Amino acid sequence: MNNTQLNSFGGNILVIDDTPDNLRVLSASLMGRGYQVRCVKNGAMALITAKKAPPDLILLDIKMPEMDGYEVCEKLKADVHTREIPVIFLSALDDVFDKVKAFQVGGVDYITKPFQIEEIVVRIQHQLALRAAKSKIEQLNAELEQKVQQRTAQLEEVIGKLHQEIAKHKQTQQKLLQQSLHDALTGLPNRTLLMEHLQKALQRSQRNKNYLFALLFIDLDRFKIINDSWGHAVGDGLLIAVSRILKGCTREADTVARLSGDEFAILLEDLKDFQDAIAVAERLLDKLISPIHLEERKLFAGASIGIVFGATNYQNGTELLRDADIAMYRAKALGKGRCAVFDREMYAQTLHLSQIETDLRYALDRQEFLLYYQPIVSLATGKVTGFEALIRWQHPEKGLIYPGDFIAIAEETGLIVPIGEWVLREACQQLCIWQQKLPPASSMYISVNLSSRQIKQFDFVDKLAKILSDTGLDGQNLRLELTETMLMDRGEKTIELLSGIKAQKIQLSIDDFGTGYSCLSYLHRFPIDALKIDRSFVSSIDAQGNNCEIVKTIITLAHSLGIKAIAEGVETSYQLAQLRNLGCDEAQGYFFSQPVNCHLAEALLPKYN
Ligand code: C2E
Ligand code: CA
Ligand code: CA
Repeated sequence: MNNTQLNSFGGNILVIDDTPDNLRVLSASLMGRGYQVRCVKNGAMALITAKKAPPDLILLDIKMPEMDGYEVCEKLKADVHTREIPVIFLSALDDVFDKVKAFQVGGVDYITKPFQIEEIVVRIQHQLALRAAKSKIEQLNAELEQKVQQRTAQLEEVIGKLHQEIAKHKQTQQKLLQQSLHDALTGLPNRTLLMEHLQKALQRSQRNKNYLFALLFIDLDRFKIINDSWGHAVGDGLLIAVSRILKGCTREADTVARLSGDEFAILLEDLKDFQDAIAVAERLLDKLISPIHLEERKLFAGASIGIVFGATNYQNGTELLRDADIAMYRAKALGKGRCAVFDREMYAQTLHLSQIETDLRYALDRQEFLLYYQPIVSLATGKVTGFEALIRWQHPEKGLIYPGDFIAIAEETGLIVPIGEWVLREACQQLCIWQQKLPPASSMYISVNLSSRQIKQFDFVDKLAKILSDTGLDGQNLRLELTETMLMDRGEKTIELLSGIKAQKIQLSIDDFGTGYSCLSYLHRFPIDALKIDRSFVSSIDAQGNNCEIVKTIITLAHSLGIKAIAEGVETSYQLAQLRNLGCDEAQGYFFSQPVNCHLAEALLPKYN
């Protein structure tokens, strides 16, 4: 070990010996080897000196008066300031020297006198090196400790951040869950959450027979009109207002959900009596029929409510919701603004309708439709001027089905578009056949009923033209029957549509006239050829000729517009007499003939011509 290393371990030595000669020799020798040496002659001084400026090593004589080396060493070791200082005992050979005790009191080594300075130096160097190594270890330990602490702090910070992230994540998850189970506009539970609650209610009622619940299906009667005329912002405002009304009429434990658009549902739980559910529905109807104030506007939403009572034979919430929906449709069919309680018969009817809907999809391909023809007679000449084509459905199992039982479904499903096209083509073709066979048919027309879905097709006019050219029928031999509502629904587009029709010389008549719009101003604007007086007005004419006023007014109106009046549903001779009397132009009805198939219709022609 060289000197620089030595110095880095320190070379400050305290020599304690009561023999001045020893001190002198030792200090001289050590100093000569580059050590700093301090000398003290007794234990008391030694303790003070060591504490004040701790040396790197102590050479300690054992045998001293007052305080011997053992005691000094013990005291040094007892003091925090000095306990780390290595102590090498010095003992004379003739001293009674207890080596074990020397180590017990904390000495690290011992040297016996008379000593050789070389031995002392080696032992000192050895101890200092040990001490240096120890302090190096301590330093490294301290550094390590610090690093560990730093790392721990960093780790704790990271863990802290992680916890924050997790908390944030949980919050987001919670929010997403909330969003996925609630409607964004009204904040009400959505269909999914309602289904969960329904399922639980079902299970509860299966466990406990006294537990009663009911489901209300609510559909606003006038939402579409309000939304279309006031815009979506008002529509949204109305839905929010309605959702508050629904919440206001129910208890906290009930579930008020928004299903879609203007459809809501309420699960009423823990009822004392099913009658309570009807009471809630009636309270709701009452509130919803009253005006809802929205930014100075008074809106009348109105609602129809279907009610289904919880019963153990239900398998799941979907079935309950389905039946509440069916009951709601019944409430609508009964005239809206009311509630209806579901019963099995309703379900059977819905099943029947859905069967019809399914079958209807195949009916065209299977060629199950046919046309019946009802003659339209001129009241002036008594001759047939035309036929109204009326569709029939020859169902393979149910037999002949009348349009009243399937046209509405065809309209709802859009099937009316291809069906209506078939009717037009078939009717035109039939008249062409008659025209070729029978001369009187050449001046006749065929009258075909249209549906609103058909005329909304952008290429409807083109399709008409194609049918005329394909069948070879002249446009003036075709008459289309439209209702007032159909004309009003199309707004400005109606003029364009009617002009496109008139450009092909096709005639136009207004069907069921008098039952739709009361506004007559459109009659001036539209190129109409005839008004068909609704059957209800004709059939109210009695044998004494009473109740003719409306019929008379319509005929007068038609004539003042320069167009024809055609009476529908003439069943008796006195109705015919009255109509003739009032100057009605044409008429149809059972009095002349029921609608009949093409062969019978053909056979009718000679009779009337
Ligand atoms: P609508 O256009 O008012 O047709 C007249 C209906 O009155 C026909 O019923 C006809 O059979 C019936 N009828 C005729 N004369 C008399 C009578 O003297 N007394 C009584 N009680 N009824 C009479 P139908 O054939 O059952 O048709 C019902 C409705 O179905 C039609 O009413 C029409 O709106 C619709 N419809 C019929 N065929 C078609 C079609 O091809 N397309 C479209 N879109 N609708 C059609
Ligand atoms: Ca008609
Ligand atoms: Ca009619």
